[in-house]
Amino acid sequence: MAGIVVVFDFDKTIIDCDSDNWVVDDFGATERFDILLETMPWNTAIDKIMGEIHSQGRAIEEIGDCLTKAPISPHVIKAIKAAHALGCELRIVSDANTFFIETILKHHGLIEYFTEINTNPGFVDDEGRLRIFPYHDFTTSSHGCGLCPPNMCKGIIIERIRASAFSEGKKHLVYLGDGKGDYCPSIKLSEKDYVMPRKSYPLWELIYTNTQSIKAKVHEWSDGEELEKVLLQLINESLSADRCDNIVPLRLAADFKCHTVPLPSSPGALPKALPVPH
Ligand SMILES: [Mg+2]
Ligand SMILES: [Zn+2]
Repeated sequence: MAGIVVVFDFDKTIIDCDSDNWVVDDFGATERFDILLETMPWNTAIDKIMGEIHSQGRAIEEIGDCLTKAPISPHVIKAIKAAHALGCELRIVSDANTFFIETILKHHGLIEYFTEINTNPGFVDDEGRLRIFPYHDFTTSSHGCGLCPPNMCKGIIIERIRASAFSEGKKHLVYLGDGKGDYCPSIKLSEKDYVMPRKSYPLWELIYTNTQSIKAKVHEWSDGEELEKVLLQLINESLSADRCDNIVPLRLAADFKCHTVPLPSSPGALPKALPVPH
């Protein structure tokens, strides 16, 4: 097992849209959703809109069908499979919900590549109505983070992931995201970690206007093709560096030549799984 945990945001990172907006727009509820957002948090509004869609007689299967059409780059699918083949552990931290994420991942045959999905619970009740609840129940207590929405602080989740990964001997975290909510986890990362913000999106802007708050190495990406290239390059570099650490006595390290495994120039051909240090 490689010493790397790759943590993905979901909306506009794994898929190339926001899953909540994708469903709301497809069901013609965009204006109604905007009105609800004026008086309640996003997470509460999406639960309410799902109730209204259900009251109009729309079946849960229609929502499922809509989700399977959400855009996802074939390069992101390849990146997930290749990172897994290289021995990385993959997790998701998302402010969407379990129903949306699992429906999309199952449709693309990707769910088994992830060991954990941290998101708002979403399930279909006895009447066939989709319920979406907050990850953090803010009606009883606050999570205490001023940067994050009331229902989820991704920074608290990433600290837990770091602690459990570290106790299992994993050394590096790679965090990929695009939104404002991905800033809090990004500032929790250490010098040994990587953050991959989507270029020109809110996370990227926050990182570049607050560079002193980020300890992790920053590698931007713009689209699925670049996400695949950058992520696999980071993983390969990190694996090579760890191999050097493992086999070279410290006093000889400066003289020892350990090369990064190069990525193939053709984006279609991915590197084969590398042997990983134990
Ligand atoms: Mg996102
Ligand atoms: Zn936070």
